[in-house]
Amino acid sequence: MEKIIVHATFHTGHRQVGYPGVCRFVHGHTWRGTVTITTEAFPRDALDMSIDFGRIKQVMRDLDHKMLVVESDATFTDPALFEPEGVVVMPGKGPSVENVAHYVFDRVVALIARQYPDRGISYRIEVTIHETENNCFVVDKSATV
Ligand SMILES: [Zn+2]
Repeated sequence: MEKIIVHATFHTGHRQVGYPGVCRFVHGHTWRGTVTITTEAFPRDALDMSIDFGRIKQVMRDLDHKMLVVESDATFTDPALFEPEGVVVMPGKGPSVENVAHYVFDRVVALIARQYPDRGISYRIEVTIHETENNCFVVDKSATV
């Protein structure tokens, strides 16, 4: 087996609209993410390099200094109020650590598909996102690309 492990740190704002505690207020986190991709043998390019580590890192860095929201957040998705380039719309009903991990997972699958399309290779992709020092969520799924 071969394994790629990439770490990144990113700073964001978010709020959990409808949450009964203080998380409903706008606040920030320094998130730490780790993407681990495992497969039998990675495809390689002309330089014998596999999946671009920098691009995997960039998936997480693209969230840096952004406000993470969901589509239903009419305030932060209003371009008259907030610059769209400073806002990232997460899937689901809230910009939770769970949805951030799934967002990163989906983009990692997409970047593998762009670099090595239609190879029929099965990858195990684990995305670990630490919202705080003590709270973390892991998505660990397989994807065939
Ligand atoms: Zn939070």
